[in-house]
Amino acid sequence: MIAKNEIAGKENSGLGSGLTIETIRNAIIEDRTTATALAGDYYERIRREDPEIGAFLTLCEERALAQAGQIDQMAAEGIPLPPLAGVPIAIKDVMVTRGVRTTAGSKILETFVPPYDCTAVARLEAAGAVILGKLNCDEFAMGSSNENSAYHAVHNPRDKSRVPGGSSGGSAAAVAAEMAVATLGSDTGGSIRQPASFCGVVGLKPTYGRVSRYGLIAFASSLDHIGPFARTVKDAALVLRTIAGRDPMDSTSAEVPVPDYVAELEKPVRGLKVGVAKEYFGSGLDLEVRAAVEAAIQKLAELGCEVVPVSLPHTEYAIPTYYIVATAEASSNLARFDGVRYGFRAKATTLSEMYRQTRDGGFGMEVKRRIMLGTYALSAGYYDAYYLKAQKVRTLLTRDFDEAFKKVDVIAAPTCPTPAFKLGEKVDDPLAMYLADIYTVTANLAGIPGISVPCGENHERLPIGLQLFARHFDEGTLLRVAHAFERAALVVGR
Ligand code: GLN
Repeated sequence: MIAKNEIAGKENSGLGSGLTIETIRNAIIEDRTTATALAGDYYERIRREDPEIGAFLTLCEERALAQAGQIDQMAAEGIPLPPLAGVPIAIKDVMVTRGVRTTAGSKILETFVPPYDCTAVARLEAAGAVILGKLNCDEFAMGSSNENSAYHAVHNPRDKSRVPGGSSGGSAAAVAAEMAVATLGSDTGGSIRQPASFCGVVGLKPTYGRVSRYGLIAFASSLDHIGPFARTVKDAALVLRTIAGRDPMDSTSAEVPVPDYVAELEKPVRGLKVGVAKEYFGSGLDLEVRAAVEAAIQKLAELGCEVVPVSLPHTEYAIPTYYIVATAEASSNLARFDGVRYGFRAKATTLSEMYRQTRDGGFGMEVKRRIMLGTYALSAGYYDAYYLKAQKVRTLLTRDFDEAFKKVDVIAAPTCPTPAFKLGEKVDDPLAMYLADIYTVTANLAGIPGISVPCGENHERLPIGLQLFARHFDEGTLLRVAHAFERAALVVGR
């Protein structure tokens, strides 16, 4: 069990549940509550709810209360408050936080306390957010169910016998259970959108290069993205606006202007073209998911969007392509965990024994599987057959989207083939687990933005997600369509 810091004072903010970024900021400005009382409320909820959910790995109460105190001080002095003033936010434990333990869900980093902050976290704090703590995830973000965490599983708040999705399972569950107003996750092959869909919240993967990856513990560098979870599309837009934009510390972050995503939400959607690709509605798609997503597309048509068939013919190769590129990059990225520089170090008599035992004892089974797969795909003799081939197919998949986006503004699809599955259901079958990513990995391979927004429930009341894709750097249109749908479908705040 992981030690959590002392729980904050018991003052009550009086704001109740169902809070959004806007309601919080207004309540503080209008002096109806304080950031300190709110942080106290959220810690109390975490203490009450999280023992059964398991979303948090570490709380950083001292840091949160210091920040909340500063916001309250500003409010008392009448200083204009920044856009996320007092908003309780939590961070997936793959983003480093200065002075706050960061594990990546791995035993190998159990004692790792980073000396600096991830840019996205620093930007949230600079905008007034109160960072509550660090969230559980699959080890090094490898997984689709959060069951690969070296610490403990996360239970889906909507049905505790089920997984919350992964790898950002803690990030999705924390928002769904209102243990944070918004969270950050990372998405390499679906790890924001899939858990958002399973937990009934909004999850956004921005364009590759839109958000700095500085301070994100790398899994597969050409596929990794940071993005927000929130209860509403507007809150996701507010968080994205804060974390997006060029960062000199990440040379892959793009020099592309960041629009005011919140203003974009209000533009009309009438006349926009929504693409529908048959490749995302094939065999393996749960019938209730299909029905909910088709109804959502119908709703977009009622809002004045034009539904246009498009073709993404290389989709069937996406899973093998992803699992070669991602594992190859992971095998290289994870070489740095050798017991010398970070975290856990096994006791041994020789240096090579120390490396071997550190990595053997520090990494879990899935991480070892990925390192082996990736090392194999990159090895002499197999490189051309696997890695190089996968890179070529990646180009074809990207071209599929380029062609489709000549005809349409967004593409609508299911986020996942099924609703949340049971804990334990797929742990012994890695291939079945990998197939859960079938509709999400394509956006990572192409680098385009994608969002999952709740679009209904199945007969067991399990949430279903509608996924939307847009052109590179067109998160504005993506959010606008998602927002219009959310409003029309009245699924806000579920
Ligand atoms: N489920 C996918 C995997 O296991 C995606 C993970 C992710 O996006 N971080 O690789």
